[in-house]
Amino acid sequence: MKKTIIANWKLNGNKKIITDFLLNVHRHLTKTELNSVNIVIAFPQIYLCLVKHIINDLDLNIHLCSQDVSYNSIGAFTGEVSIHMLKENFVKYVIVGHSERRNFHNENNNIILKKFIKVKESELIPILCVGENLKEKEMKQTELVLKQQITKILDELGNTAFDNTIIAYEPVWAIGTGKSASIEEVINIHKFIKKYIQYYTNNSIQSLSIYYGGSVNEKNIKMLSQQKDVDGLLVGNSSLNSEIFIKMIKNMIY
Ligand code: PEP
Repeated sequence: MKKTIIANWKLNGNKKIITDFLLNVHRHLTKTELNSVNIVIAFPQIYLCLVKHIINDLDLNIHLCSQDVSYNSIGAFTGEVSIHMLKENFVKYVIVGHSERRNFHNENNNIILKKFIKVKESELIPILCVGENLKEKEMKQTELVLKQQITKILDELGNTAFDNTIIAYEPVWAIGTGKSASIEEVINIHKFIKKYIQYYTNNSIQSLSIYYGGSVNEKNIKMLSQQKDVDGLLVGNSSLNSEIFIKMIKNMIY
């Protein structure tokens, strides 16, 4: 199975920066290289339509991801973007519960569940972000926190909750800090998540993928992507620079 790289651009970029980025990717990666990795980019939602046109014009094998979604479908919800709007704009993946949404927008496990359900119902692919903060890590509560974040969804949606779904383990202390979790930590936690879901669903889970995110860069991506327990990587800061992004993709391949 191809490994995935998801670039999370957060609140960065403009028309020129994004266009130049895609032109560079087109220029410096061969068709074979582009097809060797599943490349997914979460540009700010407002640029998704523009990006789709560029991707089509350049014939780039890149999938679109949204950084968030509303749990409402239609109506008086100023500033929100619905799952239907994302689908109409060719989005394939939707990030749900990123720690920046949890922390800066007070999204708790109830809100995240509602968003997760919206994505599942629409048949787009949810990327559920889970992870402990530094204090929780120091208090050895990582597994407890992960269980709470995951169980909320299992309790509501049952055994098929995570079929065709991605869970991104993103320790909050590793996001944007330059301090990635160690390979050992990543493997242990990914194994824990998989085992917990298998146990909870009586082994009926079909195709759950587990990604890692948190200070992934061009140096550590090779080792991380070679692990059989790591199906993909979610990358913030290091995905903003096309040269580094291209290097990361090459390092995943060679
Ligand atoms: C993220 O925000 O999802 C992330 C992984 O960021 P960074 O790579 O900058 O740590």
